[in-house]
Amino acid sequence: MKMAHLTAADLTKSPIELTIGKEIVQTRSLIIASGASARWLGLPSEQALIGFGVSSCATCDGFFASGKEIAVIGGGDSAMEEAIFLTRFASKVTIINRTENFRASRIMLERAIAHPQIEFLHNTIVEECLGVEEKDLKGLKLMNKKTGERWTLPISFMFLGIGHIPNASMFAGQIDLDADGYVKTEHNVFVTRQGVQLHGVYACGDVQDRRYRQAITAAGTGCMAALEVEKYLEELGR
Ligand SMILES: Cc1cc2nc3c(=O)[nH]c(=O)nc-3n(C[C@H](O)[C@H](O)[C@H](O)COP(=O)(O)OP(=O)(O)OC[C@H]3O[C@@H](n4cnc5c(N)ncnc54)[C@H](O)[C@@H]3O)c2cc1C
Repeated sequence: MKMAHLTAADLTKSPIELTIGKEIVQTRSLIIASGASARWLGLPSEQALIGFGVSSCATCDGFFASGKEIAVIGGGDSAMEEAIFLTRFASKVTIINRTENFRASRIMLERAIAHPQIEFLHNTIVEECLGVEEKDLKGLKLMNKKTGERWTLPISFMFLGIGHIPNASMFAGQIDLDADGYVKTEHNVFVTRQGVQLHGVYACGDVQDRRYRQAITAAGTGCMAALEVEKYLEELGR
């Protein structure tokens, strides 16, 4: 269901009112299942190689990097976690961080630094992903922001570890979102406003799950939300 134009008032009254295109739709209950979009570097060559060596999901695609030299982009906890995880498959992991400061927690950073298969490139940005014509990532054109030096890093896989953007901005101010914009839920699916459960409104999947972000967890919370809607509608009908 398209969820554009939902207003704060829509979430306080029953039935909830939604505008879909030019039509106003009324509903007794709402499941927010709009997911989260990975943050990309935004390079055309990167976009062309998604699924051909460029990935935003280490858990999903890590296996395909078996025995290969790869890169992880980022300097936060997700990048460190992904890099450490990917050492199970890849022969070498280079973490590329655009500054020399890391947002990662000390413990995660120390683990990555201590890992024999992980190397770091600081103050480095990716200018281009190579291999677009072959539809197969061959390497990265890099630049050191401090020195201006440019070189090519031959790798076969690039994983983005620069976070996700939950698709929940249309609900800002209407329901509780956390500091990064994820829908806050109680018991995985119950949506709140100012800390109070909002009856009839549920969220599931990646839009409320910053930790696992897997199809099976999304399906699981989706099922939970559906069961709650069923129960809620039954109670309304009594
Ligand atoms: C490349 C890749 C590979 C993956 N591989 C695996 C895997 O192998 N195994 C695994 O378990 N997981 C995998 N995942 C993760 C899995 O796809 C997600 O965890 C799962 O799809 C999340 O489900 P969701 O329903 O929460 O969100 P999504 O599947 O992202 O669905 C959200 C839907 O909401 C729509 N939407 C967004 N905003 C709005 C709006 N404003 N109004 C209306 N609709 C909107 C979107 O268009 C989309 O259709 C992978 C993810 C990626 C990116």
